[in-house]
Amino acid sequence: MSAQIIDGKALAAATKAEAAAEAAVLKAKGIEPCLAVILVGENPASQVYVRGKVKDCGECGIKSLELRMPETTTQEELLAKIAELAADKTVNGILVQLPLPKQIDEHAVIDAIPPEKDVDGFSPVNVGRMQTGQPCFLPCTPAGCIRMIESTGTKIDGKNAVVIGRSNIVGKPAALLLLAKNATVTVCHSHTANLKEICANADILVAAVGRAGFVTGDMVKPGAVVIDVGINRGADGKLHGDVNFEEASAVAGYITPVPGGVGPMTRAMLMKNTTQAAAMQNGVAI
Ligand code: NDP
Repeated sequence: MSAQIIDGKALAAATKAEAAAEAAVLKAKGIEPCLAVILVGENPASQVYVRGKVKDCGECGIKSLELRMPETTTQEELLAKIAELAADKTVNGILVQLPLPKQIDEHAVIDAIPPEKDVDGFSPVNVGRMQTGQPCFLPCTPAGCIRMIESTGTKIDGKNAVVIGRSNIVGKPAALLLLAKNATVTVCHSHTANLKEICANADILVAAVGRAGFVTGDMVKPGAVVIDVGINRGADGKLHGDVNFEEASAVAGYITPVPGGVGPMTRAMLMKNTTQAAAMQNGVAI
């Protein structure tokens, strides 16, 4: 193996320490940052994610409200709960854990979260602000990816960056953030021709595909920074990334592991967004 591992756990710990320091500043001014997390239904992965977010809040001195609603919840009931939290001045961030049961329209729910409390950065207002380079909440996973790339000392400016995946929560915003940092960005998806060749020319390669081991060693440029967003549960019960770690790490300059890479950073960025939300809503600089 030649690549250096980007330690997501260590970076996440440092990022959470920043959030904890910000929470302490806010508390000294009589403001207790608070994140409300709504979980609808019993999706096991979602339950794990919500538990993780509540634990992170505890570690950072952020108050958390864990609101569980049954699988049979109607869209109206969920929207009413969001409206209640939107009106509550003691709640700074509102997060609805996705995916939602099929009777609920995800877009309607995200639209209902006020942009100033949208700590996931998914609302159309925050997405538009990100696209036009205005201050906003950045979506946690892509923002975490940027921090991880920059932690290597790699300058994004002028680099060839390739993002595999074009979802609204990872691929597209990751591409936009790289573009904002002056990378030359190519976005690949399931209709892309010559995907292997495109990837093999990437100085920075972000994989957000949802297919275990999709990125093989021959798709990695020697010395590249490889960010593996994928979380795929294998038949062995273990978590696997979208990158074939063994092959890619023999070629890359830097690489994120799965687990212990992008996942912890995503959670840490949520804590940062929550302290920022509390500061903004109270007109305080942190
Ligand atoms: P989506 O399923 O929404 O998007 C997957 C993307 O990959 C799509 O754009 C799809 O293309 C593309 N794709 C699928 N197959 C191929 C292929 N054969 N060749 C090229 N492109 C392909 O997934 P998400 O973006 O939500 O998530 C991606 C991965 O990241 C998942 O494993 C998910 O679990 C993980 N994840 C991890 C997070 C973390 O904190 N670490 C947070 C969020 C997600 P097309 O648009 O054409 O269908």
